[in-house]
Amino acid sequence: MLEFLNSILHRKSRYLARSPDEDREVYQYSTISSLIEGVYEGTVTYGELKAHGDFGLGTFDALDGEMVALDGHFYQIKQDGKLYLVSPNQKTPFAVLLHFRPDTEVHLEQAKSYSELKEFLNTRLISSNFVYAMRGDGFFDRVKVRVVPRQTKPYPPMTEVAKTQLEFEYVKTEGTICGFRFPKYASNLNVPGYHMHFVNKNRTVGGHVLEAQINGLTIKIEQLSGFHVQLPSKGQFLAADLDEDKSMEIEEVESERTNI
Ligand code: ZN
Repeated sequence: MLEFLNSILHRKSRYLARSPDEDREVYQYSTISSLIEGVYEGTVTYGELKAHGDFGLGTFDALDGEMVALDGHFYQIKQDGKLYLVSPNQKTPFAVLLHFRPDTEVHLEQAKSYSELKEFLNTRLISSNFVYAMRGDGFFDRVKVRVVPRQTKPYPPMTEVAKTQLEFEYVKTEGTICGFRFPKYASNLNVPGYHMHFVNKNRTVGGHVLEAQINGLTIKIEQLSGFHVQLPSKGQFLAADLDEDKSMEIEEVESERTNI
């Protein structure tokens, strides 16, 4: 309880510029379940999406790597694990964006695993029923990431793609992890729980976080009460079968693979 009160006081003392009642929302293009189902055809450009935020995650047409947006810079992490600047005409089937304005800052000295980092973050959130955006800057003893490989038509479901994902490990590195925590009830729309991408300090390499050992991380968090989902009005999305619950498959492809 004391920790809870402290966290509220901490929040109020640090970022007074923002009214607590101000509506803050995250913008999302399409749904994670359609991506899992193989809807990889890009139907919106990053040029169009930029209006919705300077921070976020996503992918590209044909599932060509991982997207991370930080401080208004949009990067594509390709199969070589390296970062490339995104051009405005590049398209995507899925992205999550917002204008990041954190309301909380916390510091984590050590975490032996990604699970430990997630457990720490859980204790710093007011409620697990909101959407949270977060970025952590600091030092990593080890960080393991994956990049999805570009696909060709007919597109296989993502559970198949995940078997051929490329994995990279970086040790003793400085960098940033950023992403979102969505509530369990939002599964099928977005990844339930934490979904983070990593980029190193020089912004040369990165990927979707599978495992992390932290050695000093400052984490900024923004609580969001609004969730805007924009559905594609054309392409593969229209005929995709999205009636089934895909939460098991989402869990399988978005976290560390232990049983594939
Ligand atoms: Zn990802």
